[in-house]
Amino acid sequence: MRLSKSFVKTLRDASKDEIAKNGVLLSRAGYIHKGLAGVYDYLPLGLKVIENIKGVIREELNALGCEEVSMSALQNPEPWEATGRFSDQEVDIWFKTELASGGLLGLAPTHEEPMIEMLKTYVSSYKDLPLYIYQFQTKFRNELRAKSGIMRGREFLMKDLYSFHTSEEDLDKFYSVVEKAYTKIFDRLGLGADTYETFASGGIFAKFSHEYQTLLPVGEDTIYYNADKSLVFNKEVFNDAVLAEFGASQADFTEAKAAEVGNIFKLKFKYTEPLGLNYTDDQNEVKTVYMGCYGIGVSRVMGVIAEKFADDKGLVWPEAVAPFKYYLVGIGAEGTTKAEELYKGRENEILFDDRDARPGEKFADSELMGIPYRIVVSDKTLSSGKAELTSRATGETKLVDLSGLFV
Ligand code: ATP
Ligand code: MG
Repeated sequence: MRLSKSFVKTLRDASKDEIAKNGVLLSRAGYIHKGLAGVYDYLPLGLKVIENIKGVIREELNALGCEEVSMSALQNPEPWEATGRFSDQEVDIWFKTELASGGLLGLAPTHEEPMIEMLKTYVSSYKDLPLYIYQFQTKFRNELRAKSGIMRGREFLMKDLYSFHTSEEDLDKFYSVVEKAYTKIFDRLGLGADTYETFASGGIFAKFSHEYQTLLPVGEDTIYYNADKSLVFNKEVFNDAVLAEFGASQADFTEAKAAEVGNIFKLKFKYTEPLGLNYTDDQNEVKTVYMGCYGIGVSRVMGVIAEKFADDKGLVWPEAVAPFKYYLVGIGAEGTTKAEELYKGRENEILFDDRDARPGEKFADSELMGIPYRIVVSDKTLSSGKAELTSRATGETKLVDLSGLFV
């Protein structure tokens, strides 16, 4: 991508009402544009980060045999009424809209009910199960406070996976498989070192659900971890009765702020029973389908990564999610010609700063944008057949032979 050809410009300031660091830096660096509080547009660089995060998640879920779909954002109230969740008393974050012909529709806050409703068309026998179905989909939630940048949107991108089984054992087995996949996903996204699977309240059927919480001083959640971080609880379940079950006591724990990047639930029959998602077993008996659900906040993950790794110069992307691996600057006549040569054939890896601007301005923007490596070719470096390669994460600069730049 050539910066000279992009409509996006880096900005000196983000909008005045943007207070979260991720929102400020992502706006200034040209990744997102704020429409309203909690409502953001994703610009070319921001979209690439989102697609990279999706790519990692997709690879890990496809490896488990999950199938990807894309369900509608406009939702029929009926299945939600059947589970009691269309009521604003029960779920207080609904956006609802009206049909011209009369009657309400919901704007997807999540997809358990429509997913189950859809599967009633395709599941009838034990031979149709298990199923693992996921999507990356826009969710709408009328959140009371949206002050955390893209970490809490009123419109945001979620990965939601739903699993369907004929037995509790099968649900348990798949749940453990997803736990391992989640650990791998957060590792690959660069969040592994600070992300913990925490015990959370599980509702009626399972004792606990689990959240994936990333340590973050501005996180909205509070978690408690023990000395070796083998036991981590969220606030809802951190009490004496629960701790006693684990042979622990409050004094063993440290409190910390964190952001919830994902969660997993054994729903069992919670929604499949009221909605009547049934199958016939091998004895021809009608049974209710067991269900699990597994979310990751894709756009929140982007905000958490931005927030976590940023320094006083700007964003710092881990390579796995960076929109480009290299930021290329040519200085002087020969340097500029060489930069054009280096760029050719590597348009997907290189963000080429070919703008008519001072090198200092380009360097500052490369730091603000957080691209992992900056390559500078100048008449001076070229006199010894080399280029300067600077790591954004460490700030370290090396002179590298042109032939060894991209290895
Ligand atoms: P929270 O407690 O943060 O509101 P939640 O429990 O409502 O989250 P879920 O409904 O289970 O979350 O959604 C799955 C995932 O989607 C969450 O783990 C989180 O990463 C993300 N998420 C939830 N709400 C938002 C939001 N308003 N903006 C961005 N991401 C969100
Ligand atoms: Mg919520």
